[in-house]
Amino acid sequence: MGSFSGPVFRPGDDGYDAERAGYNLTVDHRPELIVGATGPEDVIGAVNYASARGLAVAVLTTGHGPAVPADGQVLINTRRMNDVQVDPATRTARVGGGTCWQRVLPHTVPHGLAPLNGSSPHVGVVGYTLGGGVGPLGRSYGFAADRVRRVDLVTADGRLRQVTAEREPELFWAVRGGKGNFGVVVGLEFGLVPVARLYGGGLFFPAETTADVLHAFSRWAPTVPEEMSSSVLMMRFPPIPEIPELFRGRYVTHVRLAYTGTAEEGERLVKPLRDLGSQFLDTLGEMPYDQVGTIYNDPTEPTPAYDSNLSLHTLDAGAVDTILSLAGPDAGSPLIIEMRQLGGAYTRPAAVPSAVGGRDTAFTLFAACVLEPGLEDMTRRAHEQLHDKMRPWATGGTVYNFSGVGDADPERVRLAFTPADYARLAKAKATYDPANMFRINFNIPPAP
Ligand SMILES: Cc1cc2nc3c(=O)[nH]c(=O)nc-3n(C[C@H](O)[C@H](O)[C@H](O)COP(=O)(O)OP(=O)(O)OC[C@H]3O[C@@H](n4cnc5c(N)ncnc54)[C@H](O)[C@@H]3O)c2cc1C
Repeated sequence: MGSFSGPVFRPGDDGYDAERAGYNLTVDHRPELIVGATGPEDVIGAVNYASARGLAVAVLTTGHGPAVPADGQVLINTRRMNDVQVDPATRTARVGGGTCWQRVLPHTVPHGLAPLNGSSPHVGVVGYTLGGGVGPLGRSYGFAADRVRRVDLVTADGRLRQVTAEREPELFWAVRGGKGNFGVVVGLEFGLVPVARLYGGGLFFPAETTADVLHAFSRWAPTVPEEMSSSVLMMRFPPIPEIPELFRGRYVTHVRLAYTGTAEEGERLVKPLRDLGSQFLDTLGEMPYDQVGTIYNDPTEPTPAYDSNLSLHTLDAGAVDTILSLAGPDAGSPLIIEMRQLGGAYTRPAAVPSAVGGRDTAFTLFAACVLEPGLEDMTRRAHEQLHDKMRPWATGGTVYNFSGVGDADPERVRLAFTPADYARLAKAKATYDPANMFRINFNIPPAP
C-alpha cells in the first residue's frame, strides 16, 4: 500500500467506526480500507489501491445520501478537504470536495452573495450540487449543478482532471447531474447569485387542519411567482423527550416558504396561507441569507431512514386526497412526506447543457420512514403503495438528489433522467469508468 498524508483505517482500528459513520444509519458501511483523504494525492492513492485489487471506491462526505453499503471495498472520507474560497468580483466560490454548506455561507453572505444551497446546511456541497441541487433559491435561479464552472475530478484511471466545458466537454456534461458515478471530486468551482437576505420561515399547522392546509397549498402554489419557493412537510413527531414540547408526539404540517423579493410583497403573497388561521407557530419574517437553514429545520441527528421519491406533474385535489389517505394524520402510516414545488427556473435548460433530469417536475414527492427493526417489510410496502396510488399524478420520473435507499436499484436510478440522457450517461460511464469502480452510489452502470 502506498503512503497517504491523511489517516487510514482498517476494520478493528481505533477510529474505524467514527470514520465510516454518516447521517443515514440505514447504510452501515464496512469497508476493507478507509482513507481519510486530505488532498488529491490521497484520493489518487486510494483509487490506485482499489484498481490494483479490483475493488470499488465509495465516497463518504456527510452520509446524507447513501445508497448501498461499501462492504469489503475502499471508502474515501472527503471531509478533511473543506477549504472555501470566494471571489466576490467574479461571484465564484471554490470549495474542497468534502465541504458542507454551513462552511460556505459565512464566506458569501458578507459580500451580498449566495450559493444555490439546499434546505440543510449540513449536506455536502459536492453530492448536493452534482446530483442537481434543489434549494430555496431554485425556482428563481435553477439547479445548482447548472452553475458549476469547474470540477477537479479523480477518475477511475487515477488521473486528476480539471473538468470544464472547454477541456472535457462530455465529462463536464455527465458529472453535472451524474454525481458520484464518474470519479471523486476534490474541488468544485461554481457561480454565486446576488442574494443577501430572504423573506421566509415556516407555518406549522395541527393535525385537525392538515386536509384544509394541503388543499389550500395545492391551489396557492401554482399562483405564486418564481421568486417564491415552497414546500410542505407532513409528519408525526415521536413522543420522546428530545423533541420540543410543542411538537412532541404531535402530527404536524409544516409549510416552508422562501421569497427573494421584498418582505412587504412576501407578506402579501403568503397571506392566503396565513389566513387559514389554525397555525400554532409562525416563524415567517425577514432574515439574512445565512439563516436559510432555519426555514426547514432539517434534523441533524443521525437517523436510520428508508426513503424514496417520485415526481408529480400536478398536485390537484385528487392527489392531495390520495396523499392524505396514505400518510395523513388518520392514516396510521409510518410515512413522513415532503413535497416541494419546482417549476420556474428549474424547467429551463442550463446555459451549458448538463445531465440534470427532472426538469418536468412540478412537485417532488419525497417519502421517508424511520426504519424500525422488524418493520422493514411494512416500511417498504408503505413506499410501494404510495408510488402505486400516486401514479395518475406522477411524471414517471424522479429527482436524482431525492433518491433514497428505496431508489437504489439501477432501474429506479434510470428514472431520474430522460431516456436519451440516460443512454448518454451510460456511454460516458463506459468511457471513464468501464469497470464501474464508482458503483457504491445510485449507480449508472456502463453501457455494454
Ligand atoms: C436532511 C436532508 C436534506 C436534504 N436537502 C436537500 C435539498 O434541499 N436539495 C437537494 O437537492 N437535496 C437534498 N438532500 C439530498 C442530498 O443533496 C443528497 O443526498 C446528497 O447526495 C448528499 O451529499 P453528501 O455528500 O452530503 O452525502 P453523502 O452520503 O456523503 O454522499 C452521497 C453521494 O454523493 C456523492 N459524493 C459526495 N461527495 C462526493 C465527492 N467529493 N466526490 C464524488 N462524489 C461525491 C457520492 O456519490 C456519494 O455516495 C437532502 C438530504 C437530507 C438527508
